[in-house]
Amino acid sequence: MPPPPTQAPPPLPPPPPGFLRFFSKKVRGPRDKPPIMSKYKVISFYKYVDIENPESLAEEHLNWCVANSVKGKVYLAKEGINGCVFGDDDIIENYKSHLKSYKIFEDVWFKETFTDVVAYYKMHVRIKAEIVNSGLNQTKLENTAPKLTPEQLLKFYEDKKDFVIVDTRNWYESKIGRFKNALTPHITHFREWPKVVETLSEYKDKTIVTYCTGGIRCEKASAYLREQGFKDVYQINGGILNYIQQFPDTYWEGGMFVFDDRRVFEPNTKEDLKYTSNCHFCGKPTAYHINCHNLDCDKIIVCCHDCKVENEYCCSDDCRESSNKRKVFHG
Ligand SMILES: [Zn+2]
Ligand SMILES: [Zn+2]
Repeated sequence: MPPPPTQAPPPLPPPPPGFLRFFSKKVRGPRDKPPIMSKYKVISFYKYVDIENPESLAEEHLNWCVANSVKGKVYLAKEGINGCVFGDDDIIENYKSHLKSYKIFEDVWFKETFTDVVAYYKMHVRIKAEIVNSGLNQTKLENTAPKLTPEQLLKFYEDKKDFVIVDTRNWYESKIGRFKNALTPHITHFREWPKVVETLSEYKDKTIVTYCTGGIRCEKASAYLREQGFKDVYQINGGILNYIQQFPDTYWEGGMFVFDDRRVFEPNTKEDLKYTSNCHFCGKPTAYHINCHNLDCDKIIVCCHDCKVENEYCCSDDCRESSNKRKVFHG
């Protein structure tokens, strides 16, 4: 055994300014180096709220975003707002306080992910009939299911609770990542949800949990289930985004599909939880995907970076020889 120290070690010098922000609450011991902070942030948000005049708000919002270097996509409708916005720390903080300066948006919840890749090159603000196209016109938001916190979902899994977890996203999203044991119906557009629900009728008396990327699709999807007589329905508060931020490397498997230039967000570090899909060409595990660059095809294929280049961003020889290809490689 080493002899006890005769003298207390000298006190450590104070940390440099800004040092502490590198440490999240989950880091228990000191690290050799602070983790590398990604350069940019992407924030996703939505809120169902009555907007009297979405047209004038859209114009005002676009002008403000352009003047303040904000990039991304924002949809406005009479029923609310849905957006995904990209920038460095200052731009994002500025955007958040701007949006919150509107009384109707003061409690908007921003879900953040970090990235080194430019997620958006332009700013779009669009007027829509719905903030997410659902076609569920008769569905009432007040019927939306109660929300499970990520902790509660984790506990469902750990307690081996008897529940059915259903992906409400499109098939190509669930292909590259999903919750453990999730049902992943073949959905090509969210408007197909009522048809999917017909196939779930055997679970009417079971506990059902729905999920989507940030929670917006489940607001109506879960309401629709309850309106169809499903008795015990939940949705995940803040969707996958909220869960993987708190509990990566647990019950989420693979990558999370994103509709921006990052293509995919990969939260897990455990090798066996990184991928649920394989490259279309070489079979290597990957969560990356592209749209076939033959514009007449435009099919989404899971494809590793090497095969993407080798196949000129196309899904097949036929597509590679097409005369109607994208002029610029994208993805
Ligand atoms: Zn490959
Ligand atoms: Zn193709």
